[in-house]
Amino acid sequence: FRHRLPTAGSRDELGQLTSAFNEMLAELEKAFENQRRFVADASHELRAPLATLQGNLELLERAANLSEAERRAVWRDIRDEVRRLGRLVSDLLSLARAEAGQGLHLLPVELDRVVTDVLRSMRNEVAQHRLVVEHLEPVQVMGDADRLRELLVILLDNAIRYTPPGGEIRVGLGHTPGPEVALSVADTGIGIAPEDLPHIFERFYRADKARSRATGGTGLGLAIARWIVEAHGGRIEVESQPGQGSRFTVRLPAARPASPETEAHT
Ligand code: ADP
Repeated sequence: FRHRLPTAGSRDELGQLTSAFNEMLAELEKAFENQRRFVADASHELRAPLATLQGNLELLERAANLSEAERRAVWRDIRDEVRRLGRLVSDLLSLARAEAGQGLHLLPVELDRVVTDVLRSMRNEVAQHRLVVEHLEPVQVMGDADRLRELLVILLDNAIRYTPPGGEIRVGLGHTPGPEVALSVADTGIGIAPEDLPHIFERFYRADKARSRATGGTGLGLAIARWIVEAHGGRIEVESQPGQGSRFTVRLPAARPASPETEAHT
């Protein structure tokens, strides 16, 4: 009897299968809802700068009696908005690529070199702050050098944007007592309120919307940072005191364990 109804034993199996299936459906629904929200949020974020651009262009078109200074201010707004739009599009692409699950190219990377390179390339951006390299050990990880560079740029860029000029930005890299390396970026900036802390790695979440916008933020940096870290098998943590500053720490698996001398120092 091939087409027999399931017996008691297989009914159990069927029950398990049904609940596994329901779980899968719930997961799919969540993923779908997530995707739907992403598209809605992204369109909203894209629409805002486009509306500002349109408004400014109409202003230039209509107002023949704008003074030279006013005209220049409008052009400056247009330029800023175009820049923001450019960043937004490239951040959205990064995130879309990440979510499409495009694998990383993991190769041995000297992380200390990445740090030195990025610090050198961001010299101008960081010129108004005091930059302190707390410690910088030779560290190797299996990673995608371009993505790791992007990660550090995001953290430094935030430290700069959320710290008033004259504040301090500290960078550190070294082995931990475990099989991990730790990369940290700390600042003496505005800090993050405890209620915002659990959300700052979410797409488009901003603790301070006005400031984020004014400084060219897209609300996507930390979501991209978290994806990069997790794709390397690591994790990212944040500690912060409003008004005192923030410290972001990235922990990644070490490609090779710390040498005895380095370990003795940590
Ligand atoms: P944004 O482009 O808005 O900076 P991010 O995803 O990089 O987006 O960061 C999310 C939010 O987390 C920011 O809007 C800001 O409120 C907060 N944040 C991130 N880094 C810092 C920092 N170093 N100091 C204070 N707040 C920060």
